Amino acid sequence: MDADVLVVGAGIAGLTTAARLLRLGVRVTVIERAAEIQAAGAGIMLHPNALAHLDHLGPELHATGTEIARQVTTDPDGSATSLDWAAVWGEGRLPLAVQRLRLAELMVHHLPEGTVRWSTEPVALHQHGDHVEVDFADGRSGRYGLVIGADGVNSWVRRQYVDPDAEPAYLGHVYWRTTVPSTAPFDFTDWRIWRAGGNFFGGMPIGGARHHIFLQAALDRPVKVAPEDAYPRLMALAAEMGPQVASLAGQLDPADSYAVRPALGLGVRRWVNGRIALLGDAAHSFSPATTQGGAMAIEDSAVLAEEITRSGVAPRALADYEARRTPRIRDFTRLARLHGVLSSTVQHGLALGPDPASGPAHAPRTAPSPTAWFRRLYRPLLEAA
Ligand SMILES: Cc1cc2nc3c(=O)[nH]c(=O)nc-3n(C[C@H](O)[C@H](O)[C@H](O)COP(=O)(O)OP(=O)(O)OC[C@H]3O[C@@H](n4cnc5c(N)ncnc54)[C@H](O)[C@@H]3O)c2cc1C
Repeated sequence: MDADVLVVGAGIAGLTTAARLLRLGVRVTVIERAAEIQAAGAGIMLHPNALAHLDHLGPELHATGTEIARQVTTDPDGSATSLDWAAVWGEGRLPLAVQRLRLAELMVHHLPEGTVRWSTEPVALHQHGDHVEVDFADGRSGRYGLVIGADGVNSWVRRQYVDPDAEPAYLGHVYWRTTVPSTAPFDFTDWRIWRAGGNFFGGMPIGGARHHIFLQAALDRPVKVAPEDAYPRLMALAAEMGPQVASLAGQLDPADSYAVRPALGLGVRRWVNGRIALLGDAAHSFSPATTQGGAMAIEDSAVLAEEITRSGVAPRALADYEARRTPRIRDFTRLARLHGVLSSTVQHGLALGPDPASGPAHAPRTAPSPTAWFRRLYRPLLEAA
């Protein structure tokens, strides 16, 4: 056997899986088709349910990012809603915002040298009784006990070997993302969002004296934007959102790079085929607005490691992993839908009914606070994945 487990893809999912399995003494190889660490020039929010499984990254993780205490959402009339993340998660837990590139570097550097083979991709998987034989694009082949497809929302492993019919679907939003130096006007310490006409512009500090900046545009179709058009399109969308957003966006640098990506949703009917399993975005994808896709991938890794501890490098471990993750992801898919409704309506939130903290339905209706709603939605995620 060349390794116990082959992980396809060195994103958040693949790198976390490798770290957790190596810690158990399982021999792991990660293959990545990119030549080096890839991470869009942007930040990512790691909520406490993700942080719970990233202890292997040590204190460096917190040192590289910024804890986010509040989210402030402002409407065109100047009214603002504040979300208190400490109260949402409880017991002093806060989400951590980090630069994606720094996170990816940290994850790779915490793996033993040579764990990731860059510029490598599989072309065929052959399942045998006690192993999977893998042919690689460079003509080499290898034998592995299990193969984990952590190869993202357009997963080759999923399409070829696990659930060929599952297709990502456009969720109606396209995201522009970049990072900027943390200087005025991008020197706020909260997570800030400005809403207008169904679009969201915002940002947050992500450590390293930088801010993550994004614009979420509600567009009928998932437009393809050439790199040279990304900045002018962003400016046009910001202008439509009114003078405040136009003025903020006007401070962005046209020379910076802007990653543009549609929001894709994905669910699969099966996660596992014998000794092959899906993990992370290869198995599920949600609106980025939930800031939980990476967390779900990290949870997948933790559960897979637990099941391999229980059953060894065997199909049984994968079947039990699928059995545990299916209901969690089904529940989270519901939560993601509710999140979309909350994000666009909570300020005028009476349409959503009484505050969940205010008692039985016949109790006097109180205006629901976003913190109460988000606590009800997100807090259960702290229960074991
Ligand atoms: C705009 C936006 C904002 C988001 N914000 C957040 C957030 O704040 N918090 C959060 O938790 N989540 C967030 N998410 C979701 C999160 O980014 C994803 O859920 C997460 O990155 C998925 O990681 P992954 O490793 O499964 O997939 P990916 O990151 O897509 O990694 C897959 C890897 O596999 C490689 N690969 C693909 N095919 C092959 C192949 N055939 N052979 C070898 N290698 C291959 C790719 O090159 C890539 O490196 C956001 C998503 C978007 C789009």
